[in-house]
Amino acid sequence: MARDHITLKCTVCGEENYITSKNKRKQPDRIEKKKYCPRCNKETIHKEKKS
Ligand SMILES: [Zn+2]
Repeated sequence: MARDHITLKCTVCGEENYITSKNKRKQPDRIEKKKYCPRCNKETIHKEKKS
């Protein structure tokens, strides 16, 4: 299967808050999502961690 687990990392503090999965063939670019970060205590941009 081409579905891989990826880690979403807060771009403000660097905390790795979310684990999700994506199909790398359909989404070759790195994911960027606005999500809540408990360390920053607010919504921040989370980017896919380079694995
Ligand atoms: Zn953060």
